[in-house]
Amino acid sequence: MAADFPDSVDVLVAGAGPAGLAAALDLCAAGARVLVVDARARLGHPLRCGEVTRPAALETFGLEPRPGWVRWSIRAPFEQVVLDRPRLEHDLGQIVAQRGGLLRPGTTVSAVGPFDGGGRTVTLARGPARPQVRARVVIAADGVAAGVARLAGLDTRLPLDQLAACLAYRLVDVSMADTSRFYHLKRPALHPFYFWIIPSGPREANVGLAVSARRGHAAAALLEEEVRLRPELRGGRRRDAIVGLAPSAPPLATPYADGLLVVGTAARLIDALTLEGIWHAAVSGRAAARVCRELGAQAPTAARLAPYRAAIAELYPALEAAAARRAAVEGRRER
Ligand SMILES: Cc1cc2nc3c(=O)[nH]c(=O)nc-3n(C[C@H](O)[C@H](O)[C@H](O)COP(=O)(O)OP(=O)(O)OC[C@H]3O[C@@H](n4cnc5c(N)ncnc54)[C@H](O)[C@@H]3O)c2cc1C
Repeated sequence: MAADFPDSVDVLVAGAGPAGLAAALDLCAAGARVLVVDARARLGHPLRCGEVTRPAALETFGLEPRPGWVRWSIRAPFEQVVLDRPRLEHDLGQIVAQRGGLLRPGTTVSAVGPFDGGGRTVTLARGPARPQVRARVVIAADGVAAGVARLAGLDTRLPLDQLAACLAYRLVDVSMADTSRFYHLKRPALHPFYFWIIPSGPREANVGLAVSARRGHAAAALLEEEVRLRPELRGGRRRDAIVGLAPSAPPLATPYADGLLVVGTAARLIDALTLEGIWHAAVSGRAAARVCRELGAQAPTAARLAPYRAAIAELYPALEAAAARRAAVEGRRER
């Protein structure tokens, strides 16, 4: 055993965002030997999200929500919660550890070996160390990078025009008239995306926008202009800048392979127009855990992991429709 790493586990979860953590929580509760690695040194940091989601997302983790996990509640245009993702992910990581899971932040998956009938050997990078861990199943939960599934042989590359570039500020000392409303403001320069204002406290908001990644260079100027034009935001102080990419493409048709399940945004389970992905991540993480549990001692072949696709089938129609709408607006065909 390399220092700090086991030689083998039942499931190696690559990525400790909502998808990976949802999977790990469930698997650890069932007594599986689970290793969760994340490239980030601290779970939840840096934040790359607007943090707004449907209340059902919290229920999906199968835990009684703690008060600190929600920053704010939104009532219009429909009920949503604004999470404190750094805190939520930190706490979920601790619960995984309490349930017996091994959690290794600051650790990147750098290679995924071929399926040998019983699992895969994964090479990790942690500082100068390159430990190898054998896993019956690898759960690729690495978000927009989707590099883990690619290392395992799936083609997850996306062209720039099927990625959205997002930029947001967390503003404090804003003076919004209605802090219970999520504002989507349509702008021709952003079409089919929009400018968002997500209140996250009595005088606090996440304000941001998305553009096609081809026009990512334009995001900062567009956001500055929007903030300047809105009187309620003008005096706001910037506490954080939030940058990130998100897939704006249909979900992976086959989000599994021998010894591999792809969950959350790595499987493009994200709305291509609104970029809502937290809930889809949690739902798919739980579904992947269930399929691993039901596998028992059987060989984790693609055929035996295929029930995962059926378990998340209900997510597909809406996500495919959003991706098609986006493709139509952009006047191009999906790959
Ligand atoms: C700016 C922005 C705003 C957004 N706002 C919202 C919103 O308000 N509401 C909403 O529902 N969705 C939002 N989204 C989308 C949402 O953030 C994602 O859909 C969600 O985080 C997906 O969760 P996940 O667990 O699949 O992946 P992630 O949360 O992206 O987690 C993936 C993890 O994998 C790790 N990782 C990556 N590569 C490796 C590797 N090789 N080895 C190990 N670890 C690795 C990363 O460090 C990361 O911690 C937003 C996205 C962006 C970019």
